[in-house]
Amino acid sequence: MYVSERMGFGNIIGQKLAKRVLVRASREQSPTHAYLFLGLRGTGKTTVAVEFGRALNCLNPVDGNACGECAICHAIEHENFPDIRIWSPEGQNTKIDQMREMREMAKFAPNRGKWKINIIEQGDTLNEESANCILKLLEEPPDYLINILLFRNAVNALPTIRSRCQLLRFTQVDADELALRLVEDFGAAKEEAEFLAVYSQGCPGRAIELIGNESFFSRRDEIIRLAHDASSGNPWLALKLAGILRSSNDDKSARETVIESLDMLLVWYRDLLAAKLQGEGAALVNMDKLDEIKLQCARYPHAGPLANAVDSILFAKRAILGNASAPITTEALMMRLAAS
Ligand SMILES: [Zn+2]
Repeated sequence: MYVSERMGFGNIIGQKLAKRVLVRASREQSPTHAYLFLGLRGTGKTTVAVEFGRALNCLNPVDGNACGECAICHAIEHENFPDIRIWSPEGQNTKIDQMREMREMAKFAPNRGKWKINIIEQGDTLNEESANCILKLLEEPPDYLINILLFRNAVNALPTIRSRCQLLRFTQVDADELALRLVEDFGAAKEEAEFLAVYSQGCPGRAIELIGNESFFSRRDEIIRLAHDASSGNPWLALKLAGILRSSNDDKSARETVIESLDMLLVWYRDLLAAKLQGEGAALVNMDKLDEIKLQCARYPHAGPLANAVDSILFAKRAILGNASAPITTEALMMRLAAS
């Protein structure tokens, strides 16, 4: 039977290898009972896990892919299907009570489908107690049960968990492929798509959430202006700019805001450095801001101060992630950038 590339798993960007393994398992109705999906935030782990649950439970699957049209496919699409459950951390951690509840619920056979699927998001936040609580479930699951644990970092998965799961790695998607899909499937403008594909470091989930996100793009403009003003060398202005670095228009936490600002600033100075070193043809992230890059670049007679700026921003980011004071760290950073 003809299978459109854009049905079932074909709708998901990238992850060819993981999809191939799961399509086969779904076609043969022979899934492993425990999977560990490993990959950065935004690479599509949850999306793929849900699609797998859909393919397995679909009433009219097409060569291992969900049909997208039957009652079960619709129910899953509308998040109204009791046999697929996503467990996300409550606050900072996945609580032991959540895992106990999961273990209890596993005793009941699926309600509407053939398979019951638990998707445990951010498995990195399972502490030892919570992980131990589900070991037996991973080892001796009921026939109808599939547990899918999602991890961002391999070191956070306890060996006892890892050894019981089939590991599937989720990789960053090639920028050209991602940009194309952002235009074709999500209606992004070409320039925006090319920027987001690179800025998201090939993580489709992160790119998709930023399409048309005005507050993100106006924040980027603000950060670019800030870099422009920092090169004036005025120390009083530098203190004011540190305040801008920490200020936010939306309801993010102070820490999230300053980390996001530092990330944007880092990408910007890396672009300036690349443009200074490589001139025309440099691989830039902010491709759509080429004129401004040339303008700011021209203020630096050589690459040294730009390389130092990149180092200083990285240093500040690490310090804040390590709980240093955000006001003191950002003020020191902006003074340094102003003096360079
Ligand atoms: Zn279906």
